[in-house]
Amino acid sequence: MTKSNLDEVVDLAVVGAGASGLTAADVCQASGQTVRLFDKGRGPGGRLSTRRAGSLRFDHGARSLSVKGPGAEAALSKWIREGLVEKWTPQERGPDADFSGWVGKPGMNAPIKHAAGLHRVCFGSRVAALRQDLGHWIVMGEEEAPLCRARRVLVAIPAPQATELLDGTGFQHQARVAAVEFDPIWVAMFQGPHPAAVGFETVASQGPVFAVIDAQGSKPGRPSDPAWVAQASVPWSRAHLEDSPEVIEADLRSELERIFNQAVSGPIQVHRWRYARCSNPVGEEALVDEALGLACCGDWCLGDTVGDAIQSGLAAGRWLTDLSAESSPASP
Ligand SMILES: Cc1cc2nc3c(=O)[nH]c(=O)nc-3n(C[C@H](O)[C@H](O)[C@H](O)COP(=O)(O)OP(=O)(O)OC[C@H]3O[C@@H](n4cnc5c(N)ncnc54)[C@H](O)[C@@H]3O)c2cc1C
Repeated sequence: MTKSNLDEVVDLAVVGAGASGLTAADVCQASGQTVRLFDKGRGPGGRLSTRRAGSLRFDHGARSLSVKGPGAEAALSKWIREGLVEKWTPQERGPDADFSGWVGKPGMNAPIKHAAGLHRVCFGSRVAALRQDLGHWIVMGEEEAPLCRARRVLVAIPAPQATELLDGTGFQHQARVAAVEFDPIWVAMFQGPHPAAVGFETVASQGPVFAVIDAQGSKPGRPSDPAWVAQASVPWSRAHLEDSPEVIEADLRSELERIFNQAVSGPIQVHRWRYARCSNPVGEEALVDEALGLACCGDWCLGDTVGDAIQSGLAAGRWLTDLSAESSPASP
């Protein structure tokens, strides 16, 4: 974007095009507001992400959609009707095995990808600062590049990242955002044995290292190749937070070989979610500063699930819509 983009003033700039930011954008756009979204990721998903490696696909963020609350349940029903989400009932190892959950189809990011297609989203745009100028917000990218001029800004990113971005803005809830903590999760993606050969498609907590290991091909709408995603437990991830990817790969490989009882010979990609799941949510749907025209939303306002992100995005969207109506010139 060039400086001339600042000639246009949009009603709302949203930082973060995950489930919460896009939900809020839907509400605001439906009420007639002009909305722009900025996301540092290369593509849609946020923590509901799907990664490709050759012909394999890995849901390396959320493994399923936990949804509670009327607004989030309505969103889930809509996604099911639109064919973006389907029930997944994998064959589980263990005596009390009865897990089933909702998953995006053909990847976890399907609903986010669909929602992003209805908006103007700039991917690959990390927002580095928020400045005020002549009664508007200037959304700044990296290297001091101005991205957009907006009447209001919604910050829809994990709280620790929001804390940095909001620093110096005078946001009245800054201390509450700064108090929110997240647990990390290391994730391993690899080509393993075929599920039929090991007799299960998902396995939960087999010792201290892993929380869950899922065969990707057992999810609806995926090819039946032997792609697996293993999520390390939170305590293990925390203890190994700063280890190098090479060390993590070696540690996780030996544990996977123990669980599968056979060698995992191919490469194992690892990904660290430094801010995976919120451990002490705020307990309020969204945080808003009416005087500044600045708000925050995200799963961490209410909990640590996709449903919490949607509920929070809906609340933020409604508040921003009310504020927009209040500040609009009265109709003749
Ligand atoms: C490993 C893992 C397992 C999970 N398991 C489950 C589960 O089983 N069930 C469940 O319901 N939930 C689960 N979750 C949580 C779920 O993924 C989140 O609750 C939900 O996706 C949060 O949505 P959000 O919009 O609040 O945040 P996010 O999805 O994090 O979206 C924020 C977006 O902001 C962008 N961003 C960040 N900083 C900036 C910046 N400065 N400038 C521009 N863009 C920025 C990011 O790229 C991202 O796209 C899991 C998460 C992880 C990581």
